[in-house]
Amino acid sequence: MNNDIKEVLYSKEQIAEVTKKLGKQITKDFEGKNPLVVCVLKGAVMFTTDIIREIDTYLELDFMDVSSYAGAESTGKVKITQDIKSDVSGRPVIFMEDIIDTGRTLQRLVELFKHRNAKSVKICTLLDKPERRVEGVKPDYVGFEVPNEFVVGYGLDFAGRYRNLGYVGILKPEVYEG
Ligand code: IMP
Ligand code: MG
Repeated sequence: MNNDIKEVLYSKEQIAEVTKKLGKQITKDFEGKNPLVVCVLKGAVMFTTDIIREIDTYLELDFMDVSSYAGAESTGKVKITQDIKSDVSGRPVIFMEDIIDTGRTLQRLVELFKHRNAKSVKICTLLDKPERRVEGVKPDYVGFEVPNEFVVGYGLDFAGRYRNLGYVGILKPEVYEG
């Protein structure tokens, strides 16, 4: 599995460090506000479980699964395949995401949660790929800005694989070229 990686972009240690830093900021910003942390499945699972342990105030956790469809250049349709169980009305919400690429997924989720009368909606993402953005989404907390490359590991997948790598790396082109 490690042989499929061309280059390690962020090591376990760098991820742990940035997660700690973001956790501190979120602690400060949400002290006493009892936010609902919404993990966007599946990619954000590791980041979410690590960062919430760095947030030193009360919070609640929920999960949402979404799929964006239609080929390489997506049409921007985002389908909710599993919704949260919590009522968000009047509550501050923090989305946890693995990576923001075109921004369509988060754009759609933020709109939906505003419609549901969340008190506030913030976005925390491990990785941000701003070059690819087509929506005006701006994450509030960002771990790293990544170059326009396909990355895997620490939750991020290619064809369902590589989520279990402890670091984030760039795949060798021959892996996805077959
Ligand atoms: P967006 O709606 O285009 O922002 O898509 C975000 C989703 O696309 C992420 O949650 C990932 O699941 C997936 N994605 C985008 N770029 C990458 C990448 O480089 N590696 C793995 N998944 C990616
Ligand atoms: Mg994802």
